[in-house]
Amino acid sequence: MKRRSFLKLGAAASALYASPRPRVSLAEVAAPRVQRYVPLGATGLEVSDISFGSSRLSDASLVRYAYERGVTYFDTAESYRGGASETAVGTALAGVRDKVIIASKTKARAGQDRRQIMAALEGSLKRLRTDYVDLYYIHAVNDIDRLENPEWAEFTERALEQGKIRFRGVSGHGSNLVKCLNYALDHKLADVVLVAFNFAQDPEFTEKLRHLFHYVALQPGLVEVLARARAQGVGVIAMKTLMGARLNDMREFESEGFTFAQAALRWVLSGEHADAALISMTGEFEIDEYLAASGSAQPAQAETRLLARYVAMHGSNHCQQGCGICVDSCSFGVPISDVLRARMYEVDYQDRRLALESYANLEMGAGQCLSCSRPTCLDACPNNVPIAVLTRDTARRFGDA
Ligand code: SF4
Ligand code: SF4
Repeated sequence: MKRRSFLKLGAAASALYASPRPRVSLAEVAAPRVQRYVPLGATGLEVSDISFGSSRLSDASLVRYAYERGVTYFDTAESYRGGASETAVGTALAGVRDKVIIASKTKARAGQDRRQIMAALEGSLKRLRTDYVDLYYIHAVNDIDRLENPEWAEFTERALEQGKIRFRGVSGHGSNLVKCLNYALDHKLADVVLVAFNFAQDPEFTEKLRHLFHYVALQPGLVEVLARARAQGVGVIAMKTLMGARLNDMREFESEGFTFAQAALRWVLSGEHADAALISMTGEFEIDEYLAASGSAQPAQAETRLLARYVAMHGSNHCQQGCGICVDSCSFGVPISDVLRARMYEVDYQDRRLALESYANLEMGAGQCLSCSRPTCLDACPNNVPIAVLTRDTARRFGDA
């Protein structure tokens, strides 16, 4: 099937599921656009239901392409592409700043003081060519110490007063995600949370799989903490919505008018756990493909079957980010799920640069695994992820011998 007709088919399928069965002529389907804008918790912000993730971005024209198709939320970070992602977002949106929501992030480590964090924000504002960001996240939190640092809270208060940030947030996808989110909610540290969440982490989905094969959703407490956030008026944005993004593996099964990515997005967007979905946009083809799922109602049965096929193909070798059940299984303290996330960036996303950045940011890598003679992690994963095999492979990939 040719690219354009394939995408049109996806858009047509989306329209069919979202409304009381209008008959849509494929010839009439325009290039996909955002179909729905959603409130982000109690912030008063409204964002496109599918939003622009830019962890792999350095091309301003892609940002503009997405904006012209109705995307209004653009998410970046000081660390993405060494600042090039922020520069690309700032360049593309300079003339339409008041029409878009821009979010950025900083690591804000436990020992940092407010002046250092403010300097990081100033650097982001400069690259983004703006006086303020709508949302500023403490990035990839997996450690309560970073949230407990009073300098972060002080910094956000000052930045809010000075109008340099409009709202503050917490982003995370690590093994302590649930604990960190609960802490942030307890201490009113977040107006919005950006969390790894996909169909395979939704108990409603995994319940449907029980009759097919053994599969366990490995993130105890995640949907509960997301419900708690929403009840408090905290906005929830889902990321890592494709469960590893092995899109190319799924193409041969995408024959019923939708793609795997559209099905995965539709699952998150039609559920009750998140306001919006963020997805890394790496090309015009992908932007068209993803936006065809905007405004989605419940996934059709065939789409759920496609998601189930994906889990069957990858569930036993895919680490569910944020699960953390194996966290204490390594006596050397290797941060297993973080190591496997860096591997995912290389193997599944095929993005070596992002993988190297992610691995370099870990406080400890997997070098220890190469000489580990008694791998106590062997049976630690209820989903049978072969931890030692994958962590050793990761150490070799990143030269951590
Ligand atoms: S390897 Fe298994 S137990 Fe460990 S974080 Fe990943 S999915 Fe969870
Ligand atoms: S192989 Fe050894 S060092 Fe590596 S995670 Fe497993 S127990 Fe830890």
